[in-house]
Amino acid sequence: MIERLSILWHYFAARRAFTGWADRTELTAWQERQARRHLERVADRSPYFGKLRDHLGTDHWRDWPTTNKAEMMTHFDDWNTAGVRLDEAFQMAIEAERTRDFTPTLQGVTVGLSSGTSGTRGLFLACAAERRLWAGTLLARVLRGTLLREHRAALFLRADSPLYQTIGSKRFRFEFFDLMQPLEDQWLRLQALRPTILAAPPGVLKRLATFPNADRLLAPPAILLSVADVLEDSEREQIKQGFQFDPGQIYQATEGFLGATCPHGRLHWNEDAVIIEKEWLDAARTRFTPIITDFRRFTQPIARYRLNDVIIADDGAACPCGSVFETFAAIEGRCDDALQLPALDRSAVVTVFPDFVRRAIILAVPAGMDYTVTQPSLSEWCLALSEDAPLEPVQREVKDLCLRLGASPPTLTRVPWTPAALHAKRRRVRCEIPSSSP
Ligand SMILES: [Zn+2]
Repeated sequence: MIERLSILWHYFAARRAFTGWADRTELTAWQERQARRHLERVADRSPYFGKLRDHLGTDHWRDWPTTNKAEMMTHFDDWNTAGVRLDEAFQMAIEAERTRDFTPTLQGVTVGLSSGTSGTRGLFLACAAERRLWAGTLLARVLRGTLLREHRAALFLRADSPLYQTIGSKRFRFEFFDLMQPLEDQWLRLQALRPTILAAPPGVLKRLATFPNADRLLAPPAILLSVADVLEDSEREQIKQGFQFDPGQIYQATEGFLGATCPHGRLHWNEDAVIIEKEWLDAARTRFTPIITDFRRFTQPIARYRLNDVIIADDGAACPCGSVFETFAAIEGRCDDALQLPALDRSAVVTVFPDFVRRAIILAVPAGMDYTVTQPSLSEWCLALSEDAPLEPVQREVKDLCLRLGASPPTLTRVPWTPAALHAKRRRVRCEIPSSSP
């Protein structure tokens, strides 16, 4: 009961916070005060951040060195404020994965294991209060004022999570759909449920959108959410056509709940919890890697933490939803997904962002065809297509793209198509040059 009330409180607080600011000056001044106070508290309890505070002070926290997952894992014991040791946390996380029982805690702290597709496996800690804050904020951003209605939420996940049981109640039912099961069977269950909320990776939404009467599946208020993978524009169109709803997005990483789509279809950062610094990736400032400082998260502090993601910036125009929380155009993918080509004059290496590659391929292959592009060496791209199609139009588009970017076109090699498992994390464009992986 107390748990539910607390989530409800965070829900209303997060709703107020979303539109409760006069302007960005007011918001950023408040954020700055929150960050300094929070990091001061963190530094008192975490030897790792204590050292930084003693050297540089919390007034100058923006001068603190940036961190990342590898750094966090190296200094795990000194980093967290709950006195949790890496070895005991690992042991507990692995035991939970093995038994599929995720309820045990270490001194009240739950341990989560991140997939580790980027090399370093991550361990993430959260206490009960942080889980309630997370749940309340997530509901506020996703439900858009419909919490008091009855909800049936269908979640397609790689694994069930006790976090959702935290939120569930009689009026708010969660149904877990296992991505390991065939979609045809799941479709029957979905139709019987008539969900008010459907959340799934975009690849799954796209396939569900092709089932007959997909447009009649969702019951009002009909909230359709793309989660876990990058939502590409072409997929978004196909999903919209099938369901007759524009899917919203949730930007949620193990590092926290970072952003979501507003009722006007734009992605906003969760600036009531996170300060975003931008590390620009190109001279024209179209793309950046976010460096996040979470001023609410205490058990495992996240301060000046560089995510392994590429974000596409937008024009910064005010959003009609009334929130001054900063918007961004899209989550493009992971930093190490970007491809690399020698410049035309061979003087440098040109970064080719996945979005460019996806657009080039879509222009060259029949609509709806699936594909992957991998790069084994600096001069070669390997293309796999889900159906037979000529290579020549792809070669032409890739060449055009390279000329626009001032890069030497790669040799395109056709490789056999292997359909990815539904539950696998999707990476359609992938750099596999050995030395480029961190
Ligand atoms: Zn908005």
